[in-house]
Amino acid sequence: LPRDILPNRVNSAGVDLADPTVREPLLKRLAALEARQWHAEPTCVSDAEGETAPITKPHDLSQTVGTRRDALAEEVAEAIARAEAIQPGWDALGGEKRALLLEAAADLFEDHTDEILSLCQREAGKTLVDAVLELREAVDFLRYYAGEARRLFSAPIPLPGPTGEENRLTLAGRGVFATISPWNFPLAIFIGPAAAALAAGNTVVAKPAEQTPLIAALAVRLCHEAGIPEDVFQLITGAGEVGAMITSDPRIAGVAFTGSTQTAQAINRSLAARDAPIATFIAETGGQNAMIVDSTALPEQVTRDVVASAFQSAGQRCSALRVLYLQDDVADGMLEMIRGAFEALSIGDPEDLATDVGPVIDPDAQAALERHVARREQSGRTIWRRDLDPALASGCFVAPTIIEMDSILDLKRENFGPVLHVVRFKAEDLPQVVRDINATGYGLTLGLHSRLEATREYVERHARVGNFYVNRNQIGAVVESQPFGGEGLSGTGPKAGGPHYVLRFATERVVCIDT
Ligand code: GLU
Repeated sequence: LPRDILPNRVNSAGVDLADPTVREPLLKRLAALEARQWHAEPTCVSDAEGETAPITKPHDLSQTVGTRRDALAEEVAEAIARAEAIQPGWDALGGEKRALLLEAAADLFEDHTDEILSLCQREAGKTLVDAVLELREAVDFLRYYAGEARRLFSAPIPLPGPTGEENRLTLAGRGVFATISPWNFPLAIFIGPAAAALAAGNTVVAKPAEQTPLIAALAVRLCHEAGIPEDVFQLITGAGEVGAMITSDPRIAGVAFTGSTQTAQAINRSLAARDAPIATFIAETGGQNAMIVDSTALPEQVTRDVVASAFQSAGQRCSALRVLYLQDDVADGMLEMIRGAFEALSIGDPEDLATDVGPVIDPDAQAALERHVARREQSGRTIWRRDLDPALASGCFVAPTIIEMDSILDLKRENFGPVLHVVRFKAEDLPQVVRDINATGYGLTLGLHSRLEATREYVERHARVGNFYVNRNQIGAVVESQPFGGEGLSGTGPKAGGPHYVLRFATERVVCIDT
């Protein structure tokens, strides 16, 4: 497939927080947005009155950021009907025009940097550093998939055949796509799958996580302002029941989901139970991600990368490090250095620039993590746990924790927060370590710190993971440079931000003309 027609796209520059002439005015503008209240409701609104629920800050449950009104069943049905009716027109627009609209949306996202950063912080509890990264990734997805719309949907691909026969392959949208997205990347993973579906000529009904609908509503509004018709890209608000209404609808041609493995399995069953054409299902789910550190690793680098991988974003990335494997003869020294950096983490209000670790998303997430740590504490293997400032009691904070255990297989589920597990291994047991990591059934990210080429080659050959990072941290995949996604219990692929992603949202048609 031709790549030479792609313009030289560069990833978004983001906001340079190190530059005080940029940072200080930004902080003032964010402070001015502090009291603003937002509202999210389905784009396709019926006359019926629905109930609204408050959206509160994860770091201070006494503060509201706005309200959410859940979609009613008739609104879901109407949204899908409208999306279905307009889809052939959107498809017929062609790759170039769709690309221009997605690029216009990317520009508007950048123009609304302040509101987006403010919502990432207040609605999702992100630090400013994470909020900036989130906006950059969202903009990169929009521009990258716009380029893919041009590359893949501009002209048919000529195919060989005997003289007198013309064969060509075209790509087209499948129909109405549902996107169901998580709260941990409330903008980037809301807009990424939707933009890919739109690029391919599908219309989209998008349901963001119930915790973070406000930033999704802003994103949809900006896409409409950019010129994407309202019926082409619709917001549906609500929790799991609303998601189930969407995925059980026989008019849905495909679903792109990011979230837990259990929910992905439930969606898969609901799609299979429909008396309808077999839907495309794209799922990006959890991980039980490990990092292997051997005695040739550089301790300073390991320390920096372990702390970033396990504790940045309060561990709420599906790429985050959960289980650190340390070679036993260097384990004590490494742990002492890691402890130094761990004790230096500043935990608190994510709207405070000095904060490294903010809250987890809600009281349920907090309770699940506390239960996990309590069970592990009973086994007497918690090595370190940070103290929390009592002033943080009004938010959903979990003290960063490091726990020692025997094997990754002791963990039965993903622990989505700032909890790192440590396992010691002997150099000769490396093959067993890799087998155990594979035996979790997950296959998302894996880190390795080693200067031994043979070790790198061995792990690369045997580990069944989507993203393998060597001598660096294992979070923060960059659009186009590190296409992201896993295998096994971690998802179906294809990789977000990679050259095969948009293809999965399309159907292929061949025309054969005998002249
Ligand atoms: N792409 C993100 C990263 O590389 C993780 C996405 C997720 O948490 O769902 O950190």
